[in-house]
Amino acid sequence: MIPRDTINTIIETARVEEVVGDFVTLRKRGVNMIGLCPFHNEKTPSFTVSPAKGIYKCFGCGKAGNSINFVMEHEHYTYPEALKFLAKKYNVEIEEEEQTPEQIKELNEKESLFAVSAFAQKFFSDQLFNSEEGKSIGLSYFKNRDLREHTIEQFQLGYSPNSWDAFTKHALKNGFNLEYLVKAGLTIDKNGNQFDRFSGRVIFPIHNLSGRVIGFGGRILKSEEKKAKYVNSPESDIYSKSQVLYGIYYAKNAIIKKDNCYLVEGYTDVTSLFQAGFENVVASSGTSLTTDQIRLIKRYTPNITILYDGDEAGLKASFRGIDMILEQGMNVKVVMFPEGEDPDSYVRSHRSIEVEEFLASNSKDFIQFKTNILLKDAKKDPVKRAGLIKEIVQSIALIPDQIIRSVYVRECSVMMEMAEQTLMNELNKNLRKRFKQSSQQYQPDQVLETPELPAEKQLSVSYNDTEYQEKDVIRLLLNFGQAEIEFEEVDENKQKTKIPFKVANYIVSDLIGDEIKFSNTSFQKIFDEFVEFVSKEAIPDEKFFINHTSRNVSSTAIDLLTSPYELSDKWQIVANIEVLTEADQLKNAVVHSLLSFKAKKIDQLIAESQQTIKKAEEEERYEEIQDLIKRQQELKTISQDINKQLGRVITR
Ligand SMILES: [Zn+2]
Repeated sequence: MIPRDTINTIIETARVEEVVGDFVTLRKRGVNMIGLCPFHNEKTPSFTVSPAKGIYKCFGCGKAGNSINFVMEHEHYTYPEALKFLAKKYNVEIEEEEQTPEQIKELNEKESLFAVSAFAQKFFSDQLFNSEEGKSIGLSYFKNRDLREHTIEQFQLGYSPNSWDAFTKHALKNGFNLEYLVKAGLTIDKNGNQFDRFSGRVIFPIHNLSGRVIGFGGRILKSEEKKAKYVNSPESDIYSKSQVLYGIYYAKNAIIKKDNCYLVEGYTDVTSLFQAGFENVVASSGTSLTTDQIRLIKRYTPNITILYDGDEAGLKASFRGIDMILEQGMNVKVVMFPEGEDPDSYVRSHRSIEVEEFLASNSKDFIQFKTNILLKDAKKDPVKRAGLIKEIVQSIALIPDQIIRSVYVRECSVMMEMAEQTLMNELNKNLRKRFKQSSQQYQPDQVLETPELPAEKQLSVSYNDTEYQEKDVIRLLLNFGQAEIEFEEVDENKQKTKIPFKVANYIVSDLIGDEIKFSNTSFQKIFDEFVEFVSKEAIPDEKFFINHTSRNVSSTAIDLLTSPYELSDKWQIVANIEVLTEADQLKNAVVHSLLSFKAKKIDQLIAESQQTIKKAEEEERYEEIQDLIKRQQELKTISQDINKQLGRVITR
């Protein structure tokens, strides 16, 4: 855990213009700086950095944040990784919160496992290149598979001698602790006798994201029936199969550049494709694909292309993997290799340009792929076809994006020669079921930002949408919270006095009094923070929200702070009659904004009550209807009153 104070020091020290400036050429424009956005392709710069606010924002693609967010986005770091990166670069000492003895022990254990794994990798590589056995068995195996020496060195491939305990002995002699040799899975300890786990195998080291060796895969060369063809390191404190992809360390930059990731099955598929220039390739070796592995890829690209060898049984098993990828909101394509070929063999027997053409012309989206395979099975059997439709629609229902879903439904209806509506109905059934399941685990923090509506559309949005009005109130709070506005008060002697209010205090007390809630949770959170501050007679500045620990709050704040409120435009009509001071304009804006928000909320209540009355009428609950209509009348009176006040603000 990095303490909040240290995070603040990092934010203050790592100036946003410097951090961004390392990656983007910035020019000065007014108080801001501007450059070409590194997150989307553009020819005219719309990427703006505000040194004063400590933020960047792209007006083209909408990416925005502070210096930490920039490093996370640009370098694909997690939050703590980005903090550590910046701390190191700007010489900020990170005092991690005090660690318990258990944590220290755990850290030391991990370092010991890393050390023994690195030592083993060097031993295996040395054996491969420098021992007679390694050269004649291991190296010749790799060379027979057309791997060049450079590739072998790059992937740190190796060879473990065919002996009981050559490695274990060597490691013990070099001062390594048997405990860690066993924990790292390199040595098997049976009743006090020690054996090398990988003896007589060629070795594929498995690296984590920063390139450290965390485990090994070993392939046997002689065909011994009793022994497994592949052996992998067991799980350890540094190696968790389900969270690692073979080759990710070497592939990550190419995955970003190509905006696609090839997913294969074996180690040699990875090394062969990589050597042939297809560097954006990883394997989920040792396990079937897991959600963690998919998320790992998603850090770099939303696009996955799965490469399959043409083995029928394996294909159907692959459906589950495809569904998991769809569920993560990623795009899946599938390439099937001709029968008897796998990616490794295909790459070795074809030139790179041919491989490239093959991949391009054979990559199918998952609907085509799944439908083709299942259709082959079902043929004309109507029962089987019905089952097939269900299965495909189930996959489509997993896609989080509604637009993409409807595209797939259309495509599926063409392929299956079926009415789109039939598929839609089936899809909706699935979605309802999923909604019921997921509503039980609903996380209120994950509210999607709705785009701001242009003025003419505001009138036509549905009655239950108060987003625009909510946004307006929060925008005023963030931009003008500390500004002062004055209200006239008339006492019993008809003496007028002007009473000053801070905008934040005025808005907070006005909304708290009426117990009004925001439906957008980020807005509510920002409002709640203001309530808290106001009660302590303080008002937070914009930096507090820009650097807020909740990413939803900070990006909402940045959005509202960077599309400034046009006071003068809004009050032009008034200004035509008489010139208003800026404070008066602001006061009008605040009062108007609060009234609009309330008016909209009341409209919502009226619409809801209309529904209730209608339902009561249908169910002939006449005795209740009287009360309901009375309540409806009250609401309408309030609404009229608010609208009258609104009219007064505008015409003054
Ligand atoms: Zn952009």
